[in-house]
Amino acid sequence: MQNKTLTCPVCQGNKAEMLGKNVKLSGQFENKEFLTTELTVLRCVKCGFYMFFDNTAEFTTSE
Ligand SMILES: [Zn+2]
Repeated sequence: MQNKTLTCPVCQGNKAEMLGKNVKLSGQFENKEFLTTELTVLRCVKCGFYMFFDNTAEFTTSE
């Protein structure tokens, strides 16, 4: 497990809301269906950018 301090790649903001844990995304790419591994989904509260991380990452929560 690693601890990460979150930084938004778009606005460099360090606050994000947790939208979901263990989320699997599915879709299609070149006529093949795919399913991702379980992801943690966070959204930057400042600019709304969505960030996806695999579940091995742990996040520090700072107010
Ligand atoms: Zn942002």
